[in-house]
Amino acid sequence: MIVVAGTVAIQLLTAAIGFFACVWMIRRGEPGNGRAPGSTPTWAVFRARLPLIGLNLAIMFVLSIVGFTFAVDRFTLAWPGALPVAASALLILAVEDACFYAWHRALHRNKTLYRRIHRIHHQAWAPLPLEYVYVHPVEMLVGGIGPFLALAGLVLANGVLSIWVFWVYLLVRQLHELHIHATTLEPLHPALPLVGTPADHALHHARPTLGQYASIFRVWDRVFGTVIRVGR
Ligand SMILES: [Zn+2]
Repeated sequence: MIVVAGTVAIQLLTAAIGFFACVWMIRRGEPGNGRAPGSTPTWAVFRARLPLIGLNLAIMFVLSIVGFTFAVDRFTLAWPGALPVAASALLILAVEDACFYAWHRALHRNKTLYRRIHRIHHQAWAPLPLEYVYVHPVEMLVGGIGPFLALAGLVLANGVLSIWVFWVYLLVRQLHELHIHATTLEPLHPALPLVGTPADHALHHARPTLGQYASIFRVWDRVFGTVIRVGR
């Protein structure tokens, strides 16, 4: 039961952090990303977006509860050491990020996918942290396939996996999503040059047709030539 409760607790914690970060940014009167006039976030807009944000968070909670209840005997609470946990969590993050890049790029390059699915997320020209889940539910569910496969692969390879691997992955992933959607926030990880920043993602939201599709590791945009050069 701790496996399920711990997972839901991390999701609730990050959702609460995201909510209060949004409140903080709206109260501060964030100036938007400077590229979209009138993009300063307002209470009215944030309130209007809360139902979809809440729906997606609820879907995440339900899938976590059902999934981990079903597979609870595949996870252990044992702590195998910082290095093995970090390495496995990093593997899930890397698989998810590669899948995210491909999915996100397809959502932009395919006009039907963009119009029917991804356009909702881009209603936010200068997003607030919790708007990382202001997306069509299909976008979120397809985005979950990569980390699910990576986690399933680790479980199959190990027989039983430490739940700490998933918890570390989940915490890093969700805090990172909140971070890059905090449009005007300075990077909280200036010593990690390969990790995407709020400025990177703000540029994507300001110029969504031009690129900058990566999330965690900005290296994907460099490898596939989709970095937005400011001034284009
Ligand atoms: Zn996008």
